[in-house]
Amino acid sequence: MRVVATSCCGEFELCSEGGQYFVLRPAGDGHEETARGRFARAARVWEVLASQHSCAEYEPPRRRRWCPTR
Ligand SMILES: [Zn+2]
Repeated sequence: MRVVATSCCGEFELCSEGGQYFVLRPAGDGHEETARGRFARAARVWEVLASQHSCAEYEPPRRRRWCPTR
């Protein structure tokens, strides 16, 4: 599994595995997978989830390595 992009605070991660893409989101004390499939779909879900994130405390998104293009 490879992490393609990480949202603010590392809350959501866009990952690829075996030619498929999916989003990892927090669930309980771990993560759960959602939106598995093609890159465009997973990336869009990731972007929507990440844009809904409200930061409890400001922290520069230093882990972010990739920005989706619109
Ligand atoms: Zn944040």
